[in-house]
Amino acid sequence: MTDKSNRTPSLATRVAQALHFVEAETGAVTPSIQPTATYARDENYEVRKPYWYRRDGSQTTAQAEAVIAELEGARESLLFASGMSACTAVIEHLPTGAHVVAPKVMYHGVLAQIQRYEANGRIKVSYYTAGDLDEMAAAVRPGETQLVWVETPNNPDWAVTDIAAAADIAHEAGAKLITDCTGTPPNLTRALDFGADISFHSATKYLNGHSDVTAGVLSVRETGAYWDEICKIRTLHGSVLHSFDAWLLIRGMRTLFLRVERSCQNAMAMAKHFDGHPHVEKVLYPGLPSDPGHAVAKRQTGGQFGGMMSVIVTGTEQTAIDVSRFCDVFYPATSLGGVESLIEHRKTVSGEGFPVHPRLLRLSIGIEDSGDLIYDLEQALARANG
Ligand SMILES: *Cc1c(COP(=O)(O)O)cnc(C)c1O
Repeated sequence: MTDKSNRTPSLATRVAQALHFVEAETGAVTPSIQPTATYARDENYEVRKPYWYRRDGSQTTAQAEAVIAELEGARESLLFASGMSACTAVIEHLPTGAHVVAPKVMYHGVLAQIQRYEANGRIKVSYYTAGDLDEMAAAVRPGETQLVWVETPNNPDWAVTDIAAAADIAHEAGAKLITDCTGTPPNLTRALDFGADISFHSATKYLNGHSDVTAGVLSVRETGAYWDEICKIRTLHGSVLHSFDAWLLIRGMRTLFLRVERSCQNAMAMAKHFDGHPHVEKVLYPGLPSDPGHAVAKRQTGGQFGGMMSVIVTGTEQTAIDVSRFCDVFYPATSLGGVESLIEHRKTVSGEGFPVHPRLLRLSIGIEDSGDLIYDLEQALARANG
């Protein structure tokens, strides 16, 4: 017998229904877009809470934030016009001279921004090898470090960091932990549950999933003075997500569970197929039992391993570039987390001086037929080696 009153809808159900959205006035089951830049005061000349000017946020943006907060199990979520503007707000909120611990290799834009602030004397930074908790612990300065930055899985080799262990290291030193789990969205990894203080996602990627929005989001377990400061920075930078984009993001998130499940299945099929392939030196994918991050990933990503992988091909750097040029199904484009599969020669994209293997190809596996994806990479490898 089912007791209706006792069954709480699962997260998958709540997200598919955008939190069972129903517009009060009309009964519409999808929200309307509220593009207004300003809001009229009421008859007493009072500001109509909570919105008064769009740079502070709009109803549509808040609706998208509510869905993400639910996904993350967060107290609050805050949407920015891009992942980079969200990360910049976090770096910017630190006081001058603050010490930060960050990975040596990570998403190139975030690393470049951290290095800019460091070069300008705004912050001090110590670096560790992604996934190496001993190096992270050695880099942390108790009482001085304010922020530990973790990207897991880590671009572009998908090294896995144990978030709970990293949280212990950060908290023991009196620092906050920020995680960038863009590669495994919150339906796979709820970073706040593992002890992160701030969970960042580039919502451009899996959360939106259709390669038609740039957005970034910060979610927190606890608010407080630091969070007020970050919210203020969004207003003062004018970096709030636009209402149209927030609306697209809501629509994209409704299929998040379906899309990600399919991407994970396709990525696993690809990884298994190309592991040991004569033209592939190495497959980098935490889903492979031989991968050093496998055990932690299994615990941290809900038994699925995400849709991101890299391959190091045999031959020369030009062979790698040729493979990405010769694909017909994969798009030779940067970004990740969309329904369409992308392939990119990461060294070309990251620029000179960035430490990435010259024969590494980063693959974002979409929701297409896995047989088509395997066939496409097979033919490109054959042609590049022909
Ligand atoms: C894309 C990405 C970012 C930056 O986000 P944008 O939305 O492109 O500004 C940060 N971290 C990771 C891991 C990313 O993939």
